[in-house]
Amino acid sequence: MLQAKLASKKEDGHKSTVSISERLEIGGNEVVILGGPCAVESREQMETVASHLAPSAIQVIRGCIFKPRTSPYSFQGLGVEGVSVLDEVRQKHSLPVITEVMSVEHVQAVLGHVDILQIGSRNMQNFELLKAVGQTDLPVLLKRGLAATLEELLMAAEYIMSEGNHRVILCERGIRSFDSETRNVLDLGAVVALKHLTHLPVVVDPSHAAGKRELVADLARAAVACGADGLIIECHPEPEKSVSDARQALSLEDMDNLVKSLKPIAEAIGRRLINTKPNFSVVAGLHGESQPNRCRA
Ligand code: PEP
Ligand code: MN
Repeated sequence: MLQAKLASKKEDGHKSTVSISERLEIGGNEVVILGGPCAVESREQMETVASHLAPSAIQVIRGCIFKPRTSPYSFQGLGVEGVSVLDEVRQKHSLPVITEVMSVEHVQAVLGHVDILQIGSRNMQNFELLKAVGQTDLPVLLKRGLAATLEELLMAAEYIMSEGNHRVILCERGIRSFDSETRNVLDLGAVVALKHLTHLPVVVDPSHAAGKRELVADLARAAVACGADGLIIECHPEPEKSVSDARQALSLEDMDNLVKSLKPIAEAIGRRLINTKPNFSVVAGLHGESQPNRCRA
């Protein structure tokens, strides 16, 4: 394996946590759940999602405004017009927000308005983008490429970290294989292997791995059982009407039930699910004067 100077585990027990807000971190004893729709469709949709999920054990809301679609004719996301929707949701519901960026311009557009930057599978080796997010001080969720080795994933993390941003969270989201019954193959072996290779937190996305909503809950439970530090799951007020990834979206009620079912699994391996909301604040602590969200580029 190539030398990942910053991402490699230095000794047994070497584990880092990534702080999202002053009271929420990923990589500690608590399993963190990130949930929300694939794409931000409207203010009303995000308001419904956030008001439903805010009182539950979901700690971070997801919603993409820049969508990497296989077809250029499919919905490409709300674009910069969606920034204010994300900002409104995080302020109103005191919930951190994660969104995908696909270009350096996207990074500039969302800085100060979101709490975690997502690098999608298709951009795992977009090195200029990795350098750009490495020059911010926002946490970065780095998704494994469609057919990327763990070495390539760790070296992509290294690109971000070598620019000075060490707040990297790895994400296993399934890899391409020959069977089309599932959208991708969820590589839980990779989750376990990464725990031996790196000190960085590892999150699992069962939604893009499964591609079918009826498979998501079991994969999510298996991911927690094998040591994932968190889950990122797609859900929607009207799953069948989702403008993207409709087939894999859970209803908000199914999301609640899934999260409840994770508690005993987390406890069986000595971990916890967060029951009460950390007191997230967008104006103090990490988001305040001492560490403003900014781009050093
Ligand atoms: C997504 O999170 O909606 C997404 C496009 O994921 P991935 O990059 O894993 O396909
Ligand atoms: Mn999606």
